[in-house]
Amino acid sequence: MKLFDLSLSTPYLSLDPIFYHEVSTTPLRNPRLVSVNAEAAKMLGLDPEKLSARELEELLNGTRLLPGSRPYAMCYAGHQFGYYVPRLGDGRAINLGVVGGWNLQLKGSGQTLYSRQGDGRAVLRSSIREYLMSEAMHGLGIPTSRALALIGSDEKVAREKWEKGAIVLRMAPSWIRFGSFEYFFHTNRHRELESLADFLIAESFPHLIGAEDAYIKMYAEIVKRTAEMIAHWQSVGFNHGVMNTDNMSAIGITIDYGPFAFMDTFESGYICNHTDTQGRYSYDNQPRIGYWNLERFAHALSPLIPHEKLQRELERYGTYFTTKLMELLRAKLGLDTPHDNDGDLLRTLFTVMENGRIDMTPFFRTLSRYDGKREPLLALSLAPNQLNEWLDRYDERLVTNTSSIDERHERMLRTNPKYVLKNYMLQEAIDQAENDNFSLVNDLLMLAQSPYDEHMLFERYSLPTPLNLKNLKLSCSS
Ligand code: AMP
Ligand code: MG
Repeated sequence: MKLFDLSLSTPYLSLDPIFYHEVSTTPLRNPRLVSVNAEAAKMLGLDPEKLSARELEELLNGTRLLPGSRPYAMCYAGHQFGYYVPRLGDGRAINLGVVGGWNLQLKGSGQTLYSRQGDGRAVLRSSIREYLMSEAMHGLGIPTSRALALIGSDEKVAREKWEKGAIVLRMAPSWIRFGSFEYFFHTNRHRELESLADFLIAESFPHLIGAEDAYIKMYAEIVKRTAEMIAHWQSVGFNHGVMNTDNMSAIGITIDYGPFAFMDTFESGYICNHTDTQGRYSYDNQPRIGYWNLERFAHALSPLIPHEKLQRELERYGTYFTTKLMELLRAKLGLDTPHDNDGDLLRTLFTVMENGRIDMTPFFRTLSRYDGKREPLLALSLAPNQLNEWLDRYDERLVTNTSSIDERHERMLRTNPKYVLKNYMLQEAIDQAENDNFSLVNDLLMLAQSPYDEHMLFERYSLPTPLNLKNLKLSCSS
């Protein structure tokens, strides 16, 4: 199928107009295609070979609408850094409609009713980051929004310095957020709250349509999905950075990529968002914040569901989180059956990684070929003695494994990525793209989508982050 043969529907617009605002996009000057994601194109039923750059530019720049498209911005609220903000909404995202279960959304295509002081724009830097990172998360098996394509432009956008405007076409099965529910709860619109819950069930939890206690069952699933999503983040050293409730998806996928980072060397208190001076959204706080956010969500649902029922489901969060995290981490160590002491073995490993300033991605990748020879692993640590002791324990533990060494290696190489997109890599792609060279953006897209493959040409990106490029301080204005 060709791009403009896609036909959209706009079910969200069947809700009361208080839920959204219909809006037109404001095009960028001299748009040009930076990258198109063939995988996402195929998911929409498009033939990637037949995509034309001109048509993609027209679609992303909003100068040509797909059949059935009726652009709108969604209204929501949210707790930002612990404080309730009564009205946020899509200030720079404009929804186009739905096709094949994917809600298409342009980010950076101009002001909406909800823009407040903002200009409705997104800069090339942050758009490249979102575009690549959502694909990288998907490549690692982590629930996330996706992206079809990215355009740059000559439009000047004022941030800490002048930058150029860009637009990403993002897609998700739903863009409803915890904060969407909070908006209707805090404005005392309980009828609309119920409509939103019904809408979300029809859109994303269809197996619950007409079910007894459908609302609490929906909440229970959201608790589980959120806990498991955050367990995934922890297992790969991902720090989201802005876990405000307006950035928490009601279907438990990772959304709204801002100052995120994959850690360079493992640091439990790592904070990627340098405006987060208290470390509210630090790496090791993420699981707790997930719970806190789900508590706010439960509060917003309280007119629909008795408090005790919500609380009972919320209390399962810790178990869901720990069970998933243990499953993921056991797999990273190549352990095929659970063992009572695994929790302690893993906790010790994380302490050893932190003390030895170990970069976890190359560490787990190297461990995936471990056959008793320790030098390649010890070379990754500044505290090799501690690692050596831990490896003694690991050796003992491996004795109880049932699979062969080869089987373990093979499984671990499919579990422990060779490549994650660290900030320094994204920054290299951004620096080149700002000079209109988009080849590294496209190379990183390829690495993002096949992170377990060898890609010998990009070997350097699989090594520990060079010292001078660690913990890049990134601007949060995006
Ligand atoms: P974020 O933390 O980036 O997800 O954004 C929080 C809120 O601010 C959302 O309601 C966004 O739509 C809004 N926002 C962020 N940047 C802009 C901008 N440049 N123009 C308009 N609204 C914005
Ligand atoms: Mg947001």
